[in-house]
Amino acid sequence: MSSSGIVHLVGAGPGDVGLVTFRAKELISQADVLVYDYLVHPELVKWCRAECEIFYVGKKAGDHSVPQDEIESLLVTHAKAGKKVVRLKGGDPFIFGRGGEEVRTLAKAGIPFEIVPGVTAAIAAGAYAGIPLTYRNVSTSLVLLTGHEDPTKKEAQVDWRSYGALKNTTLAIYMGMGRLAYILAELQAGGLSPTTPAAVVQWASLGRQRSVTGTVADLAARVAEAGLAAPAIIFIGEVVRDHESIDWFEHLPLFGRRVVITRTRDQNSELRDKLETLGAEVIELPLITISKHTDRVGFVEILAELGSYDWIVFTSANGVRYFFEDFLKGFKDIRSLGLLRFACVGKATAREIERYHIKVECMPDTATGESLADALVATGSLDSAKVIVVTGNLNRDVLVRKLESGGAIVDRLLLYKTEKTDLAHDPIADDFREKGADAILFASSSAVQSFNEQAAVLKLAKGAKRPLAGSIGPQTSETMKKVGLPIGFESKKPSLDSLIEALIKNLKD
Ligand code: SAH
Repeated sequence: MSSSGIVHLVGAGPGDVGLVTFRAKELISQADVLVYDYLVHPELVKWCRAECEIFYVGKKAGDHSVPQDEIESLLVTHAKAGKKVVRLKGGDPFIFGRGGEEVRTLAKAGIPFEIVPGVTAAIAAGAYAGIPLTYRNVSTSLVLLTGHEDPTKKEAQVDWRSYGALKNTTLAIYMGMGRLAYILAELQAGGLSPTTPAAVVQWASLGRQRSVTGTVADLAARVAEAGLAAPAIIFIGEVVRDHESIDWFEHLPLFGRRVVITRTRDQNSELRDKLETLGAEVIELPLITISKHTDRVGFVEILAELGSYDWIVFTSANGVRYFFEDFLKGFKDIRSLGLLRFACVGKATAREIERYHIKVECMPDTATGESLADALVATGSLDSAKVIVVTGNLNRDVLVRKLESGGAIVDRLLLYKTEKTDLAHDPIADDFREKGADAILFASSSAVQSFNEQAAVLKLAKGAKRPLAGSIGPQTSETMKKVGLPIGFESKKPSLDSLIEALIKNLKD
């Protein structure tokens, strides 16, 4: 019990990972202990260090998995043990999240704390459903309300009728879906016109967002018909009226579509970003795990002689990351790289190199090892040149062989290894097995292979949607045929944009 611990009470935002604050990400990635809730995106939990101790205390309505006082004592105990605790809560910690109670307990126990705000659900739902929460001359105030009340308990009850009497106001109701009809009736009894526009937005900011609009008189029936339920925000007020014209998110071309991508190479985050920008719900199957290769043969020797090499060649962003991690441990000055020239396989890898303000001097048009070798040979600089090729355990030999026949003296640096992920108990794989998806995209042959290797564990449940399989080009399609995977569509050009274009077209048809 050396240093004193601290609890960071952190808002995780409404769901979309991009809506998390920088501070939240920073704290999660430094935490010794993470305590998180039901509506927190699972992706955030992956930011934790491997040593971080993780507690899920989530509750769904009616199913309080961990009682509040236990959560609070969990925070106190770990902070007292000197730990850096991150208490991650959906949305904003001080909006209907019992953050106030937790912080009081900490203060009472004399534990240092920090509070990091988050984007609360109502704000996100307004933005993602095209409902401006205030509007000049229409709505001059916004009221956040909770609809979750227990009539058997002696708690303060919301006086719905008094809110029904408010003018020029937007009401945003959390946790109200179970009592929607009652709430709407009470508001009307308080004077709210039955023609007042109203809306429900479920799963705001996520690919599975759904919304229904109507009036105070008919909203409950419409919501029941559409089958919307918690988690959702109920909006009431004139600001809902023109929402169709600015409802941008639900009109995106891939909105509501579940698209699977497979984690095999670094270009994935680019593919993910592109799909999410188009509104898709992206399911990234973690088929493989990349880790540091512990047995780094020749590494010290190569580092000691860096100055004698002409080129260093990277076939993945992982290679770049692992190389610099170790390089910077040994050298404090980037100039120790000498006049080493940098070559890499594609854009994602180049971006990683450029983070160190190093120019990439050779990159092929198509991101394959073969093309990279050809591009290097074409520089005319390989004759007797000393070349380092940074690889993982799976890299094919073609690149090295081609460079050698181009006259280079090649030293391989094996820095990372790629292994199959155990998918049997993986939450993302569970979600896929249970619900399936609209499409699955293969951006390389290796993606097809690793999917095929895990196909048995990924068998879909009854009633799950069978995804249409899309291929980025002839080589990938060839591999799909070989393993017996039916090809739903093939991209015209071997680029992510072209693949996505084909996806949109095929899902429309
Ligand atoms: N502290 C959270 C609210 C927790 S109460 C915040 O600031 O957002 C839980 C309620 O929040 C849910 O019942 C629902 O009403 C709302 N909610 C949370 N996430 C939501 C989402 N993505 N879309 C719509 N409503 C959401």
